[in-house]
Amino acid sequence: MAGVPMDQRDGWIWYNGEMVPWRDAKLHVLTHGLHYASSVFEGQRAYGGEVFKLREHTERLIASGKILDFDIPFTADQIDEACRQVLAKNELEDAYMRPIAWRGSETISVPARENKVHLAIAAWQWPSYFSPEERLKGIRLTWSQWKRPSPETIPCKAKAAGLYMICTLSKHAAMDAGYADALMLDYRGYVAEATGANVFFVKGKEITTPTPDCFLDGITRRTVIGLAKAAGYSVTERHIKPEELSEFDECFLTGTAAEVTPVAEVSEYKFTPGEACRTLVEAYMTEVQPNKAAAE
Ligand code: PMP
Repeated sequence: MAGVPMDQRDGWIWYNGEMVPWRDAKLHVLTHGLHYASSVFEGQRAYGGEVFKLREHTERLIASGKILDFDIPFTADQIDEACRQVLAKNELEDAYMRPIAWRGSETISVPARENKVHLAIAAWQWPSYFSPEERLKGIRLTWSQWKRPSPETIPCKAKAAGLYMICTLSKHAAMDAGYADALMLDYRGYVAEATGANVFFVKGKEITTPTPDCFLDGITRRTVIGLAKAAGYSVTERHIKPEELSEFDECFLTGTAAEVTPVAEVSEYKFTPGEACRTLVEAYMTEVQPNKAAAE
């Protein structure tokens, strides 16, 4: 279902401090970020005109750059303000937003200290509508053939482009086999995460989720842990072996794009989205609304 190509849209992209017409936000083929994956990004969502947890996303973006040994040449305040400007200029209320920073094209070999660091921010409409009933049917996952690598082999705490290579491969294989997504194990064989979302398991009032020691500790993950505790669930972070999945009743994914997505199946393991999924899907949708405090 190919929509309008991402480079052929109307609107404005914030590019190194200026608003640039969408189709003109380009870079050169000899860009370090493209050749060597020296690029970090964020995926964040606006609900009702406000980016949910904007400062946390901005801080993670800056931290990801530092992990890749570069400083984004804008402060957190400037980046937050630029994100707000992108929403306003494009007249967006419910949107997905993609800030991305990368090393430029001054030199093209492995060392890149002389290369300028660029920052661009794009946003596009992404309605927050969904029917909880539809979502509660749950999606089908299969196992990925790839493993989340050891922290000694890749900077796993950065939201960096290079870490997504195995996610794209895993997602392609899953989709080719008729599944919505793939669940990845880590280098030790423990359950890790999906290709763009964290995973949780439920038994009664107990929720268990993998310890994020070699993959992204998602902002949605942390939000949902708080919501689950507030709703009376216990939340344990620990290593989970794949064969333990047979012991859980419910399973769901969390992520900025996924929000809270119930899971009906991980290959041979079946789940029935129930009370915990329903509670957290709804609690998260309430949490992201900017007028939540006023409405309470
Ligand atoms: N893991 C991966 C690999 C992701 O791409 C994402 C989405 N950014 C997440 C987890 C969830 O992170 P967040 O809740 O911060 O969006």
